[in-house]
Amino acid sequence: MNKRRNFIKKSILGTVGASSLIKCDVPTNSNAQATYPRIISTWNHGLSANKEAWKNLMDGKNGISAVEAGVKISEADPKVRSVGYGGFPDREGIVTLDACIMDKNSNCGSVSFLQNIKHPISVARLVMEQTPHVMLSGKGALDFAISKGFEQEELLTKESKKDWIKWKEESKYKPVINIENHDTISMLLIDNNGDLFGACTTSGAAWKMHGRVGDSPIIGAGLFLDNEVGAAAATGLGEAVIRTSGSAMVVELMRQGHPPLEACKLIVDRISKIHRSGPDWDYLQVGFIAINKKGEYAGYSLKKGFDYAVCDNENQNSLLKADYSI
Ligand code: ASP
Repeated sequence: MNKRRNFIKKSILGTVGASSLIKCDVPTNSNAQATYPRIISTWNHGLSANKEAWKNLMDGKNGISAVEAGVKISEADPKVRSVGYGGFPDREGIVTLDACIMDKNSNCGSVSFLQNIKHPISVARLVMEQTPHVMLSGKGALDFAISKGFEQEELLTKESKKDWIKWKEESKYKPVINIENHDTISMLLIDNNGDLFGACTTSGAAWKMHGRVGDSPIIGAGLFLDNEVGAAAATGLGEAVIRTSGSAMVVELMRQGHPPLEACKLIVDRISKIHRSGPDWDYLQVGFIAINKKGEYAGYSLKKGFDYAVCDNENQNSLLKADYSI
């Protein structure tokens, strides 16, 4: 494996001009083939999300409709306990949702602390398309959704309520992340023209304080893209991602010439350095996915356990294990 690491390290540095780059140990799951269309999504529920997004794209829908349709699959699935309907609630037993979406022209929309709406990503899209704002939060986001015809529904399923009641017995506050490989869904798409789109949606860290908002609805933290460069998205402990403006930084590193894998790793290393002696170190997990304008992609996380789904004409729809630091 080390030999392979070194080989990839050399070839990647060779193509981008090693002298101007911060060197890092490049792991093995990078993809050097320039190809699109391509869709990558976080975690194993990314597979069904990718499938739907791909179908939409092949049916002639545009990139923004495809990513929206894709992540809606995870939002509606009660078995996905970290997104939308069936997501773990906060400490008060209330499911609160965060989501954002971004298109090739840097238009973006976001909702945070939204309750009782099954598809926050669709509300985020309408914030982008039908308001002069980027982000609506809490009651304002809910009122906006209702005004657009969204129906209110109970998002706390029996299973999630049961788990919450069990958690309350001890009420230890530790955000639950990296659980059963079901966390935030972030999706990045490069279409036939090489244009980029992204979406990110979550119920956030389980048992969070009421009112807590993570990285996922924050453009630049949970999701960022620049159509001249590439796109990146995050999963894991939102507080850690926000502190480094994680996704925006990954994109900026790609702008400087770093391949997606190196860019993700450099930001994970930065997060690791900041948190290593902090109180959240034992449960900290962060993972990033990234794709550049050539369609090269990667996923990388701090700790073992992060996987991501890739869908294109070559891979069909496959789940890849991301490489990791520790
Ligand atoms: N990033 C999400 C948050 O902090 C949670 C996750 O992806 O596990 O809200």
